[in-house]
Amino acid sequence: MEPKIVSSFYKYIKIDNASDFAKEHLEFCLSLGLKGRILVGEEGINGCVYGTKEQVEKYKAELMKNPFFSDIEVKEHMTNKIAYRKMFVRLRKEIVHSGLNIDLRKTAKFLTPAQVKEMLDKNEDVVLVDMRNDYEAKIGKFRNAIILPMRNFRELPQAVKDIEHLKEKRIVVYCTGGIRCEKASAYLNEIGFRDVSQIKGGILKYGEEFPDTYWEGKCFVFDDRLAIQINKFNTEPLTECVWCNKKCDDYLNCHNLDCDKLFVSCEECKKLHNKSCCENCANAPKRRKEILTEN
Ligand SMILES: [Zn+2]
Ligand SMILES: [Zn+2]
Repeated sequence: MEPKIVSSFYKYIKIDNASDFAKEHLEFCLSLGLKGRILVGEEGINGCVYGTKEQVEKYKAELMKNPFFSDIEVKEHMTNKIAYRKMFVRLRKEIVHSGLNIDLRKTAKFLTPAQVKEMLDKNEDVVLVDMRNDYEAKIGKFRNAIILPMRNFRELPQAVKDIEHLKEKRIVVYCTGGIRCEKASAYLNEIGFRDVSQIKGGILKYGEEFPDTYWEGKCFVFDDRLAIQINKFNTEPLTECVWCNKKCDDYLNCHNLDCDKLFVSCEECKKLHNKSCCENCANAPKRRKEILTEN
């Protein structure tokens, strides 16, 4: 299989007729033969498309013809793994579900990856806070970053109680591509944090520019790949296989459909234990379907 491209992007911008926009956008993506997942709402667009270079280039060119999206920032990754098997464009109230009424005008100031790297090089008095879910941070994070006890973004208000002691400190928040931090940092500003900034383009942009510096492990992604490599050389896993304890950071959804838990397993144990997280699950009757072919 030819390597393909996963292209991710978002923009908070008022879309008046989001429902019509979503319908037309789906038609458009299908006409290009793209796969992926795009959320559209009155507050903007949040998406990921997956296809050949030609398909993705056509998509971007067309999207950017729209003056609302002419400056949209795109993060791209080549992959040999299948990222998506279908094309979805979904209408959502929020393009990142927080369940909070966040005033995005309060979002924190942006730092470029270069500014963040410089800060860390100089060992400045700053704390990095990971705004992703805990299971994402488990397989990869910035060195010394604080991880929040959060299973999903809706738990943000509860989770940030963990960092209340940092209210007066200089903190830099980050997430995969930046979309969650625009909301999370606005929320932190709202509840009285004094000096919050966010990384423009998130981990993906930082990793494009400065791999093998301060990132450790892999970066979790919400598609069938589950994780991608950020570093070229320092690829030491942060976690281990649940079965044999070998250093490993390959996530797998338990193939017992009644469990479906995300867990870390090495290739050998995956085969040995029926792609399951434990002995019980390995013998459970309802199994996840194997999808072998691409289309
Ligand atoms: Zn193992
Ligand atoms: Zn299981």
